[in-house]
Amino acid sequence: MSLESRLKRTLRDAFGLESLRPGQQQVIERVLRGLPVLAVMPTGAGKSLCYQLPSLMLPGRTVVISPLIALMKDQQEKLEAIGVEAVQFNSHVPADEIRAGEAALRDGTARIVFTTPERLGDAEFLQLLTERQTSLLVVDEAHCISQWGHDFRPAFLDIEMALEKLGRPPVLALTATASEEVAADIMARLRIPKCGWIDTGTYRPNLHYAVEQLTHEDEKLRRALELVRGTAGSGIVYAATVRAAVAVHDALRDAGESVGLYHGRRAAADRRQAQDAFMSGEARVMVATNAFGMGIDKPDIRFVLHYQMPSALDAYYQESGRAGRDGAPSSCTLLFLRRDKAVQQFFLGGRYPAEEELDAVYRAVQAWPDDAPETTLAQLREQLAIPRNKLRVALSLLRGSRVLAVLPDGRIRLLRRDMTPEALHLLAAGYRQKREQDREALDRIAFYAQTGQCRWQVLLAYLEGEAPVERCGTCDNCRRIARHEAALAAASAARVARAPLRRPATRRMRAPAFALRQPVKVGRYGEGQVVSADAASITVEFADGSRRCFLPGYVEAVDQL
Ligand code: ADP
Ligand code: MG
Repeated sequence: MSLESRLKRTLRDAFGLESLRPGQQQVIERVLRGLPVLAVMPTGAGKSLCYQLPSLMLPGRTVVISPLIALMKDQQEKLEAIGVEAVQFNSHVPADEIRAGEAALRDGTARIVFTTPERLGDAEFLQLLTERQTSLLVVDEAHCISQWGHDFRPAFLDIEMALEKLGRPPVLALTATASEEVAADIMARLRIPKCGWIDTGTYRPNLHYAVEQLTHEDEKLRRALELVRGTAGSGIVYAATVRAAVAVHDALRDAGESVGLYHGRRAAADRRQAQDAFMSGEARVMVATNAFGMGIDKPDIRFVLHYQMPSALDAYYQESGRAGRDGAPSSCTLLFLRRDKAVQQFFLGGRYPAEEELDAVYRAVQAWPDDAPETTLAQLREQLAIPRNKLRVALSLLRGSRVLAVLPDGRIRLLRRDMTPEALHLLAAGYRQKREQDREALDRIAFYAQTGQCRWQVLLAYLEGEAPVERCGTCDNCRRIARHEAALAAASAARVARAPLRRPATRRMRAPAFALRQPVKVGRYGEGQVVSADAASITVEFADGSRRCFLPGYVEAVDQL
């Protein structure tokens, strides 16, 4: 039987599906040929099938690494229901299930193994995995491996080592969002060649974007309530801080909404309960921090409202993209208050190890005596008061530059004793650059919030480097422009009817040409400078730093002396 017909049959018999979607076909063909792939496919496109289907056709087992413990069980149960042997290993699995899972690994009955990157760092577990052939290593939510991404998880850095130990099986990296930098980073770390990068595009026309600019914090809660109550169907409200999430949740609850609350500081059982209630439709709305939502497979989310802006456009795309997986129109609205940028700036400050911390790690490793030159991460943590994640990042940086090695059993060995403060300074420069990029990413999302351009255009330009759509026609800006044009057309039609021999109306309609930074005046707002302009809208920055966008007719050039 040809590969093609075997594929079709497995698809139908095991999964009850008639055909593959376009991106899936490409990815699965490559995977079955044993070639590494980075698949960038939007939420709801069906990334899971890209490894589930091959797992039934490959000789060895498929290992799936995912940061989402909460979802492993669901996935495992769904697979078991269609007769695919799947096991899960993570810190939430009870001991007897772990033992049964280990037995299934030993005797080879486990076709799919779900695990976390942390568990993969466990030497004994890794040893057990190597006893049988791994035909495919899947890295789900692969953007977590990249320090350029918005959701970097240091434990993902250990996958590189595990990959070596497993005998370098072909890798399938899956993500819904990857800017070019993140994609390049994923490919470099997992050694996927450029030709293995399959991007099915990020544009999802059923998502209707909008931004509401607010000037006071207290307007926000009122507006959020109105929006939630005025939109039918289930939805998520994202807040940037636990405090804001609690406030919004309480206000919605007091207004009689059925609403759940999810954030990292709630107990695991409470989080689980809130998630289940939302997934089953028992709670219509979920108020959450960004701890909620990755990998969530709820098709009928009709709105995602951001109470505060996230740190970057890729995070915003991912979070808002949880709406409308079923393809039906859904709204994605951002409430924008200029002050919220400061909240994000505060978070950015804590993400990377400072030069002093890098230095402290190096000196701690260097200080070990020559007769016991190795130590463990645990010992190092005891010795240094550096948060775990920063320590991991610092170690990864030192490892990447071959200053030290982390052995498969977790011990750390110093390779170079001759690092001068200057050399360490150079190493830390990489992080300074990263911080700079974070700042730029923050400026970009602030721009998105304040622009008069098509929202999809700005999103796609950022995520894909180009915007394949000229105008989406559905975002708030496009709708406003359409209204403006319709009004002009109606007015000119009336004029033409009255005086058919007048000059064509299009001449009057043409937007005045504005140059960047040109001083202008706008009605009651006063004077400002043009920061972006096209035929349909002009964005002006005022003396107090605020930006607003206007129809060309309202903006007047100011003569320069
Ligand atoms: P994601 O890309 O967000 O990880 P999932 O893998 O969770 O998406 O799949 C989303 C939904 O699409 C699932 O309910 C899945 O059953 C469905 N699906 C996947 N592939 C197909 C297909 N070829 N035909 C029909 N439905 C599919
Ligand atoms: Mg998924």
